[in-house]
Amino acid sequence: MKEFKAQSKKLLDLVVNSIYVNREIFLRELISNASDALDKRRFMSLTDSSLDAEFCIELKVDKKARTITVSDNGVGMTDVELEENLGVIAASGTEAFKKQQGKTDEQLIGQFGVGFYSAFMVADKVTVVSRKVKESKAFKWESDGVEGFEITSAERGSAGTDVIITLKKDGDENYSEFLEDMKLRQLVKKYSDYIRYPIRMLTEKQADGGAKAEEMTTLNSMTPVWKKPKSELGENELDEFYMHEYRDFRAPLMNISTRVEGAVDYTALLFIPSEPSFDYYTKDYKRGLSLYCNGVLIMERCEELVPEYLGFIRGVVDTPDLALNISRETLQHDRRLVAIANGLEKKVLSEFDKLIKNDRKKYESIFEQFGKAIKFGAYDNFGANKDKLKDYLLFYSDANKKLVTIKEYVEKLEDKAPILYACGETSDKISMLPQLEGARESGKDVLYFTDTVDEFFARLLKEYDGHKFENVASGDDGAKAKTDGHEELLKRMENKLSGKATVAATDKLKSYPVCLAAKGNISLEMERVMEAMGGGGVKADRVLQVNLEHPIVRSMEGMDDADFADMVTVLYNEALLAEGYKPETEFLTALNRVLGGNAAVPKKPAANKAAPKKQSTAKKASAPKKSTAKTADEK
Ligand code: ADP
Repeated sequence: MKEFKAQSKKLLDLVVNSIYVNREIFLRELISNASDALDKRRFMSLTDSSLDAEFCIELKVDKKARTITVSDNGVGMTDVELEENLGVIAASGTEAFKKQQGKTDEQLIGQFGVGFYSAFMVADKVTVVSRKVKESKAFKWESDGVEGFEITSAERGSAGTDVIITLKKDGDENYSEFLEDMKLRQLVKKYSDYIRYPIRMLTEKQADGGAKAEEMTTLNSMTPVWKKPKSELGENELDEFYMHEYRDFRAPLMNISTRVEGAVDYTALLFIPSEPSFDYYTKDYKRGLSLYCNGVLIMERCEELVPEYLGFIRGVVDTPDLALNISRETLQHDRRLVAIANGLEKKVLSEFDKLIKNDRKKYESIFEQFGKAIKFGAYDNFGANKDKLKDYLLFYSDANKKLVTIKEYVEKLEDKAPILYACGETSDKISMLPQLEGARESGKDVLYFTDTVDEFFARLLKEYDGHKFENVASGDDGAKAKTDGHEELLKRMENKLSGKATVAATDKLKSYPVCLAAKGNISLEMERVMEAMGGGGVKADRVLQVNLEHPIVRSMEGMDDADFADMVTVLYNEALLAEGYKPETEFLTALNRVLGGNAAVPKKPAANKAAPKKQSTAKKASAPKKSTAKTADEK
């Protein structure tokens, strides 16, 4: 006897013992596995005709023995595969399981189905007899679903798999209902109707003479959901198809059906998931749509069918125009595939257009989940798609307090007026930036750039309908602000900053005395992004912008040198903090001195004018005295 892997054991225990109401899904899971096995064999048969067969799934019931058998003539499994595939809960299921910590056990099992193992919700014992295609030996896997399983030799006339489940005894639950024809028929109709292979069962039928006879019946319609006319689709049938096919327990945000007749005929059914799959932003994620030829799968994840920026879209494309046995390599360069891909991209974007106009909420929910992907798509490849995608990006508008497109923003602008934007980690943080004050007061709107790619994209786009992009934290507006006679003050501040930043007047501030900006091509945000990417060498040209109208700044005029140095330190650090930077080490002591009337904390020996000796005298002179003097001064 081999033991289940530890992780599987835990999950198995949940499956078997949780009071999960939806036990009936076990049948759907077993049928789907059978269907997958048939897909695999069918696929192989495209290049090896000896594997061709009349593919089907068969259900058998033995009421006395309380067994249900699900048989298929698919690829089958070797003894090694039986152990590997059924000895651990499927990797996909487990991965998803791990990501969903916090959900209740019942939810998890329902959501992921956990495939094969769901049989243990209704069964005491599961036996799998399988013979792999092109092998002469068959093997039997058997388990009670608790500790482990056994694999032994077995007999099977031809390749394929039988999964035999022995139902639990009735008790609080009625398991015997699964032995009834009607129940099984109903379950197949409900969950597995679209399965592309016939699901057959011997059913009792009233013969002409009144005697009962048995007859082989196909229980499913076999019509793939994407081929069903709208009128025949059940209410949530498309969503359910998506959820089961892509192992997502949440309904998709949107589905898009399209049928095209033209140079290339195709039917497509696309889904936008409710959120990015857990591996979406990793290189493990495989984008692509399933490609079918007249209902027969020919490629599982065909990347060529969706552009990278729509890689989150799932779905199927069915076209009668491609040959079944076309190789992957030939297919990738097939012009028909390119035509379908272009058609689908247009279709998706036109659906987005409709949403932007008519169902903003829905578009926002899509953008919230996948906006980053679309933005990267607009920036990627040196902006090859920037014009195509620029109208699908949403940014938070400071004036409108909601998400807007660049187009909507520009519509309200005067001729040639710039598109103002501000960068930051979150909308909340941006909304508190001092730099926004001026724009707000003069009734100008500002777009919030919260993603790292946003500003890079704006620089790439340069302008929209003749309106240039302008960062409110740009230091390039200094020349415009009047300095009237305060040049000396600005110069003095700059000296104190000893190269950390230049100093310039600005009129974009109101209640704040200063803010940090950057001159030239590299903005503060870009510096941060490049640093995060490991290219720390690129530095923004920092400017401390000063509001000359501000009382704090006014009060610095004629201040003694040590106090002036503290004020500059405090103001510079205030500007750093507002931008989300960490303060410098000298900030707190300088702040304390300023708060304590510039005397509570002794000045550092390095303080500008004081020679070390004089400094120590100053210390002895005791703080309170000087503090009083200062207060007197201020009166
Ligand atoms: P999943 O279907 O998510 O991979 P399961 O636990 O349902 O997880 O099945 C585990 C694996 O066992 C499958 O991936 C497949 O390789 C194999 N398997 C299950 N049922 C069959 C079958 N009827 N024929 C061939 N292989 C099967």
